[in-house]
Amino acid sequence: MVESMETVPEYKKTEHRNWINSQQDRMTSLVEKWASINSGTYHRIGVESMVNTLLPEFSKFEAVPQILEIPSIQQVNDRGELQSIELGPALSVRCRPDATKRVLLAIHTDTVYSVDSVFQAVKHDSNRLCGPGVADAKGGIAILLVALEALERFLPQELQEHFGWEVLLNPDEEIGSPGSASLLQAAASRNHVGLLFEPSLPDGSLVSQRKGSANFEIVCRGKSAHAGRHFEDGRNAIAAAASIAVQIHSLNGRWPGTTFNVARVDGGGPLNMVPDVGVVGVNVRYSGQDQEATILHTLDGILSEVSSSTGVESERFGEFTAPPKQAEGLTETLLHQVVETGTELGLNLNLRPTGGVCDGNRLQRWGLPNVDTLGVRGGEIHSHDEFMIKESLAERATLTAELLLGWATNKIPWPISRTEADYGSSEKS
Ligand SMILES: [Zn+2]
Repeated sequence: MVESMETVPEYKKTEHRNWINSQQDRMTSLVEKWASINSGTYHRIGVESMVNTLLPEFSKFEAVPQILEIPSIQQVNDRGELQSIELGPALSVRCRPDATKRVLLAIHTDTVYSVDSVFQAVKHDSNRLCGPGVADAKGGIAILLVALEALERFLPQELQEHFGWEVLLNPDEEIGSPGSASLLQAAASRNHVGLLFEPSLPDGSLVSQRKGSANFEIVCRGKSAHAGRHFEDGRNAIAAAASIAVQIHSLNGRWPGTTFNVARVDGGGPLNMVPDVGVVGVNVRYSGQDQEATILHTLDGILSEVSSSTGVESERFGEFTAPPKQAEGLTETLLHQVVETGTELGLNLNLRPTGGVCDGNRLQRWGLPNVDTLGVRGGEIHSHDEFMIKESLAERATLTAELLLGWATNKIPWPISRTEADYGSSEKS
């Protein structure tokens, strides 16, 4: 049956919208193929294979894609020792890096699903695609790819030289981007606007502001002893770790919006031995950067109190991995431009805050205003029921293409004023 004009959504009209819509099935197949590759953050070979699979798709632009190794990271293992971990590579494409308007399009290739997770299969379920990473965030990779293809195809030649873009696909966002931080920071410094392709909320809403996040590992070191012969000589590190864990947990509710998730207690060994190592892992979420000092001071107070009452020394590792992200300044301007563009396309985009963090937090800290939920409509992320809504692929690719084409053709005002952008002192009036 032929659709009547009234039933054709705005985002399917005009030549470039039509073209993007014609890519819907290709996008679904790409996401299906990518989600079938396990790219759990610590599965280095899987992440590498994901990047190699992406390479041909990103090789069709005038810029040559680059595979970039990232530095290994340090993590505390269950014996309280710092361990060096190698992660997979990042993929970078930089097109017209000297243009006067420059946009970063970024998202991660890794997922939370380890190589031995039971959740590996990708399935079609009427209008949904279900599988590991389909929404978070492989659907987003297909969206940014097709939006850029539309830009290059439909932006008039004479306007192209003024509009540059950079793609950065990093391999470690799900653990706070410790290895790709320097790549993100460099990309933040050479672009003016950031678009990130994390999934939107299940009802299609975009995220307006995000809490901050910190990961801490507390290593307790006691003294081992025979549990029968010399019990009194021992210093029980597990008991100290447990006391620290309970006291940290009891901080929940002290400051509105600040949460302490004691996620892990490790250590110990044979039952006839007083354990000399205990490790506590905790994630903290908080709303204001001014709370960071109070959080650290309170945690360290607990550590020194437990140390003096038990004789077990403890040491804190880890850091604030993402500052809170506020909808302010140029980020707020960008959010409004996205919502207005959505309205023109017949998409009703609401804005909501969330406790989740992403690279958008980090990029904002490094001075890049950004909107971070331009990915698919989907849900149940970080669970074995993760899904994305197939039609949101073309819908959201159109939204992004519309923004890019709008900025490039001045239909949408470029959100950075010339004096704010780093165009060189000679151009400042
Ligand atoms: Zn994500």
